[in-house]
Amino acid sequence: DKGRITLLGLGDMGTALARAWLADGHPLTVWNRSPGKAEPLAAEGARVAGTVAEAVAASDLVVLCLLDDASVGAVLDGVDLTGKDVVNLTTGTPGEGRTRGAWVEKRGGRFLDGGVMAVPEMIGDPESGAYVFYSGSRDLFDAHRKALAVPAGTRYVGADAGYAALYDVALLSAMTGMFAGVSHAFALVRNEDVPLSGFADMLVGWLTAMAPYTHGIAGHLESGDYTEGVTSNLAMMTEGNATLLRTAEEQKVSPELLTPFMALMERRVADGHGDEDTTGVVDLLAR
Ligand code: NDP
Repeated sequence: DKGRITLLGLGDMGTALARAWLADGHPLTVWNRSPGKAEPLAAEGARVAGTVAEAVAASDLVVLCLLDDASVGAVLDGVDLTGKDVVNLTTGTPGEGRTRGAWVEKRGGRFLDGGVMAVPEMIGDPESGAYVFYSGSRDLFDAHRKALAVPAGTRYVGADAGYAALYDVALLSAMTGMFAGVSHAFALVRNEDVPLSGFADMLVGWLTAMAPYTHGIAGHLESGDYTEGVTSNLAMMTEGNATLLRTAEEQKVSPELLTPFMALMERRVADGHGDEDTTGVVDLLAR
């Protein structure tokens, strides 16, 4: 038998989650601040609750997918969570995850935080590679593992409720840098006679080829020797940076997305680490 689920929050992501659970046959109760968003789901078999309290009372498993942590606090404020298994799929910080976990436990519930590594179109499609980082109550995770695995794959990363957000935000941060680089690359070529879709293929191929060097950085951080196996060293790369900057100037493109990273590479070379790769930049970032 498929367990009952309550879902609070029917934005783009919440609606995708709702459809995945409905399609899998879970009895689903939904609530959204603006009631209009629940209507299409009612037609697909969801029960629509008039209040948060009514929605929470309907199921032991209560999933939230709201804008931010403040909205989670606002929505659950004053609601009885005794015996409830609260799963928070709202993106937040590690600190917010920990504080929210303690807040839910104080109100008598178990807590699991989640970081969704997918866009709504990927939810409910086992081929998409979508998954969710989970951290917090292992017992909750084990009790609802099957239901949690319906919209996306599951990766439990620890009892510390902050870890799901930590992993989630670390990956999103790396993605931010990647798209910064992609933006700069397109700015360089867009006013030239360059076919942009073909150029996109080249970018994807190059980024995919470079991405595995990430393993080298992890190895260096673990061993403490940042020169091990380095074939493209920082001294050479910082020389290359000058060419990147001159090209930006020729193409009338602002270098502002590149220069902060380049400045850290140069500091590391100036400190006598020209024979390393970029691993030392990680040290320079620590506050
Ligand atoms: P939307 O902006 O589409 O939806 C936001 C939801 O939060 C709506 O249901 C909105 O209600 C509700 N909400 C906002 N503020 C409040 C409040 N103060 N009280 C009650 N409800 C509130 O966002 P998404 O569905 O896209 O995202 C939801 C979460 O999922 C976010 O934390 C996001 O970071 C995360 N996520 C989203 C991804 C995506 O690609 N969309 C990818 C990965 C994670 P109302 O309808 O009344 O405005």
